[in-house]
Amino acid sequence: MIEHDYWAMMGLATRKAGRFAIGRMTGSAYSLRCVVFHDVSAAESPFTKAMGVSITPGKFEAVLKFLVRYYTPVSLDEVLAGPRIGKLPQRAVIVTFDDGYASAALCAELCRELRVPAVFFLNAAFLDNKRLAPDNLVCYVANTFGMDVLNRAARAVKTSSVLHLQTMADVFHRLFPILSPAERQEFLNAAAQLAGVDEGALARQASLYLTSKQVRELACEGSEIGSHTSNHVHCRTLAAPDMDGEIDRNKEELEAISGKRVRSFSVPYGSSADLNSELTQHLKSSGYQAAFLSESVANAAEADPLRIDRVSIRTGAAHALFLQIEILPRLRVIRNRLFHRRTLKRAHAKPPFSLTQPEYSKESFERTQN
Ligand SMILES: [Zn+2]
Repeated sequence: MIEHDYWAMMGLATRKAGRFAIGRMTGSAYSLRCVVFHDVSAAESPFTKAMGVSITPGKFEAVLKFLVRYYTPVSLDEVLAGPRIGKLPQRAVIVTFDDGYASAALCAELCRELRVPAVFFLNAAFLDNKRLAPDNLVCYVANTFGMDVLNRAARAVKTSSVLHLQTMADVFHRLFPILSPAERQEFLNAAAQLAGVDEGALARQASLYLTSKQVRELACEGSEIGSHTSNHVHCRTLAAPDMDGEIDRNKEELEAISGKRVRSFSVPYGSSADLNSELTQHLKSSGYQAAFLSESVANAAEADPLRIDRVSIRTGAAHALFLQIEILPRLRVIRNRLFHRRTLKRAHAKPPFSLTQPEYSKESFERTQN
C-alpha cells in the first residue's frame, strides 16, 4: 500500500471511530501537546523553497481553529506552574514559532483574536534583517545556483572536504553537526563568495525576519519571547565559551529588546542529540525554565519542562492534524521504548529507522537535488 493511501485510510478510520478514543488506545500518557510553526506565507521563496518550513495563511488559520475546537491552548506560565508538566487542563496544547520569520507578527494577531497564547523563539543575530540565517542562505544558494556551489564551499573547509552533499538535508543534518561554529562560518562565507552574493544586502532586500520594534510589540501584547540561540547553531558543536555567546548573550539581547524575561529555549534543528547534559546544565544555570525539541514525540505527564517535545505542522486538514498531533507522537513513544530495550540487549545495534523528526522534515528536501 502506498503511503498516501495508508494515511487516507487512517483518516477515514479515525473520523468514523471517535478520534480521541483511538488516540487513547495507542497510549494514554500524553499530557501536553505542543506544536511549532516557522514561516507562514502564501508561497515559498528561494530562501525557504524545499526547506519544509512554510505553511499558507489559510492552513495556519485552519490549524489554530482546529486547536481551539478540540484542545485547550495554554500559556508557558501554566506549563511552568509545577516542577513537572502534568497538572494541566484536558488536552492542553502550547503553540510555538521558531526562527523569527516576519510572518510571526500577523500570526500573533490571529493568535490573540482566537485567545491562543503563543511563544516566539528568536535568534537575535538576524532581527532587523542585518544578516541571513545560515539555513536561508544555504537554501537560497542551492535553489538559485545549485548544490555544486555548496559542495565547492564544503571542500574549502577541511573537516567537510570528504562529504558529498546531494540535498539541503545533507547540509543541515550531515555537514553542520560536524563543523565547529568557526568552520560553519567559513563554509557560509565560501558559499556566499562562490555564488557572488552580498549576504547583508540580500538580507535587507529579502526582509525575512522580524524587526526589534515588532519583537517589542509582540512582548507588550502578551506573547512570550524565547531564545533559539544567537546564530541558529547545532548546540552539540558548542564549546563552553561558545555557549555563553549563543545562549546567554542571546537571552540578554532578547530581554533588552523585548523588555521581558526570556525563560524558554528552543533547540535549533530540534534534535535531542543537541540537548545533552552539558546544554541542559547550562540552560538551568542561565535561568531557563523550559526547553523545546521538535522530534514529534508525545510528552508524558511527568515530563521535565526542560525537555518538551513538539510537532512541526505543515497541513491544515483536520484528519491529518489529528494523526500528526494525537496518534503519531504516541506511536513514536512506543517505538522509542522498544528500540531502547533492544539497544540495552545489543549495545551496538543501529536503529532500523530514524528515531528523530527534526525541525525540518527530511522528505521536504528531496526536490533539491541538482
Ligand atoms: Zn530553527
